Amino acid sequence: MDPRRLVPRTDVVLADPRLSDAADRLGRVAVKAAVVAAQDLVRAGVLAPGGVADAAVAALAGPAGGLRPVLNATGVVLHTNLGRAPLSDAAREAVLAAAGNTDVEMDLASGLRAKRGRTALKALHDAVPAAGAVHVVNNGAAALVLAATALAAGREIIVSRGEMVEIGDGFRLPDLLESTGARLREVGTTNRTSVADYEDAIGPASGFILKVHPSNFTISGFTSGATVAELARLDLPVVADIGSGLLSADPLLPDEPDAAGTLKDGADLVIASADKLLGGPQAGLILGDAALVERLRRHPLARALRVDKLTLAALQATLTGPETPVWRALRTDPAALRERTLRVLAELEGNGIPVTLTESVAVVGGGGAPDVRLPSWSLSLPERYASGLRTNATPVVGRVAGGRLLLDLRCVPPERDADVVAAVLAVA
Ligand SMILES: *Cc1c(COP(=O)(O)O)cnc(C)c1O
Repeated sequence: MDPRRLVPRTDVVLADPRLSDAADRLGRVAVKAAVVAAQDLVRAGVLAPGGVADAAVAALAGPAGGLRPVLNATGVVLHTNLGRAPLSDAAREAVLAAAGNTDVEMDLASGLRAKRGRTALKALHDAVPAAGAVHVVNNGAAALVLAATALAAGREIIVSRGEMVEIGDGFRLPDLLESTGARLREVGTTNRTSVADYEDAIGPASGFILKVHPSNFTISGFTSGATVAELARLDLPVVADIGSGLLSADPLLPDEPDAAGTLKDGADLVIASADKLLGGPQAGLILGDAALVERLRRHPLARALRVDKLTLAALQATLTGPETPVWRALRTDPAALRERTLRVLAELEGNGIPVTLTESVAVVGGGGAPDVRLPSWSLSLPERYASGLRTNATPVVGRVAGGRLLLDLRCVPPERDADVVAAVLAVA
């Protein structure tokens, strides 16, 4: 029979008293949307028709807002589709505190207007004293657009053909840069570009040299490129897009450039994302030569790219707070993870779930270090659990491989293990 004919009618579901309560708390529009989403799950064949009201109630049980909190059991530390870096508790508290009125642009001692986000900017500057000045915009792409507009509109950006990357979802760096009115002067080849290639391209129309760290792929074999240190000796500003947001070198990720080291190598500006390896909120960090940073900060476009108070609060708390969840996930000891996974496995087995333990590999993700393989452990379940876990009241997202669903607990906060067990039992 056509499953659509089994979907309970919206008005019938909305009569559930739990949903009228939810409507008082969250608004009718939110409740109706949750019911429609649950009806869609029935149509997709992943929810029984009788479960629509329960699923809507469960979806509405969390905080208001359309984004559902999920448990990341993919073993991908920075999962772009799951919101990249999860914020630390300190950053979450800071966001909540800043959500009301705050002194974001007021000096409370004098009552006068003050520089927006000055304490977060100071925290960033303190973290990278080698920078002459710092600025923060909406994301890494915005930082690139601002640099290209302020320093090279109507002029040329010299960049290696090996660094013309796509940053995801079909957005490509060359298109992004040219959208500002700057022209790209591509030099070298996909696999090899020399300092002389850059040098030969320098002329009266040059704006700056852009050096992009490819954070989502590696090229191996017959390759060579010019280093930032070599390019810094040429007579043109060097802007280095390091991507991942490491502020200082991390021995765990030896191939990832960091802001302090890149400035020390002679880059005039460093651009990075805050929600990758730094483990903070979505933001674009700009660090470097004070005069250049000031030109970017004063450009009219800067106003359109400015970050909100919530981002500033989260960024500051990330910079000054304890180790981030990203940092901890990267440093998880495989032996300890195995013990933890075995405890969860024992509970599931005790409830008759057909689960085994398997060795697996975790990765940093699109946010950086494409070469790094982190030895890991996963629960292995029949693949049919995957969709049920994703649409559970507490969604758990794993990874399907070889007909099995793998759940790697590395990026799941340990205090949430009980939620993983409950989710698997609910699906079973
Ligand atoms: C991620 C990335 C970007 C884009 O940054 P967003 O913060 O996602 O806008 C640009 N360049 C590089 C090298 C990156 O890794």
